[in-house]
Amino acid sequence: MITGTLLGGGITVDLDAIARNWRALDTVASSALTAAVLKADAYGTGARAVGRTLYKAGARFFFVATPDEGVHLRAALPAEAHIFVLDGLLPGTSADYAGHRLMPVLASLEQLGEWLDFCIERSQPFPAALHFDTGFNRVGIRSEDAERTRAELDRSGFEPQMVMSHFACADQPTHEMTRKQHGIFQSVLTQFPNTPASIANSAALMTSRDFHFQMVRPGIALYGGRAVNGRANPMSPVVSMHVPVLQVKQARMGETVGYGAAYRLRRDTRLAIMALGYADGFMRALGGTVGNPGGRVAIEGRIAPILGRVSMDMTAVDITDIDVPVKPGDLLEVLGQTVRIDDVADAARTIGYEILTTLNGRFPRQYVNVPPGVDIG
Ligand SMILES: *Cc1c(COP(=O)(O)O)cnc(C)c1O
Repeated sequence: MITGTLLGGGITVDLDAIARNWRALDTVASSALTAAVLKADAYGTGARAVGRTLYKAGARFFFVATPDEGVHLRAALPAEAHIFVLDGLLPGTSADYAGHRLMPVLASLEQLGEWLDFCIERSQPFPAALHFDTGFNRVGIRSEDAERTRAELDRSGFEPQMVMSHFACADQPTHEMTRKQHGIFQSVLTQFPNTPASIANSAALMTSRDFHFQMVRPGIALYGGRAVNGRANPMSPVVSMHVPVLQVKQARMGETVGYGAAYRLRRDTRLAIMALGYADGFMRALGGTVGNPGGRVAIEGRIAPILGRVSMDMTAVDITDIDVPVKPGDLLEVLGQTVRIDDVADAARTIGYEILTTLNGRFPRQYVNVPPGVDIG
């Protein structure tokens, strides 16, 4: 990813805002360790710079999804950083994990067996965590196998660094699934009375102290996204994105805009064509068709709705009602102070996570408010 000046617009990531968000969450989770989830290149913001920023802020525990993400993050962080790999252990890769000082979050008895064999072969208890499935039905050891897991560990004398699980519905605080999973997790933990436990993502961290245990694992909230549905989002915005206007034109009532002639103008309309399309991760679902309003961008705090379909590299917006001059080269705010990640997500009928992880197609990324002493190179 190119870092530099933004000739034709681009994405800016406010590293100090990420550090502030981490500290705010760390304060909420006062008695627990606050880790940081940096999977998918830190939700599209750049795991290297974000990892170093959060290390400087005090974070020592990091989560990535894949071993490759772990290798990259390991190279960016001091030796004291602990890196967990959420995908678990892929068959035959134990030596790679250990060699890069990555900890697999072991997600089945087979994975545990393979890791224990490896540790015995090397006569060294390489650290790892255990993931229990408390009802999500994604990866994880089934909760009924907690006792068998305990027995496996007792046979080898191995103790995991941490026992974790993951909520399916933490973003909906009153959902009964959360209470149910919490109960199952507590019964799993009776087999691991002396092992640190962790179940909270951002939403669970922000919802109840009961979910904090010994470690919390926020992701989305670090990056300024909304974690809990139906509540005001207290986090600082982190990511902004601006793209240039390519052309401004006057079109007449009755004409159509864009592919499929999907939007017919209901008045004489001033259009700005912006250099942004689905190839940049600006989803086609954000197109505005009749009866189906799409996404919005902004200029100087004024909103401009999208008209017609999003094409690969260009999209039209309605600037008729904008009372400031708009000309080619002016930058439109796609994300920022006026258009928040979750506004875009709602318009595309998705979640902020998907917006963040897809909206980084071909644009240069620039870091701003880099904390002193953090090397983003
Ligand atoms: C992604 C993820 C998190 C972080 O979730 P957020 O909702 O982004 O805070 C925590 N734990 C696991 C297992 C995850 O996959």
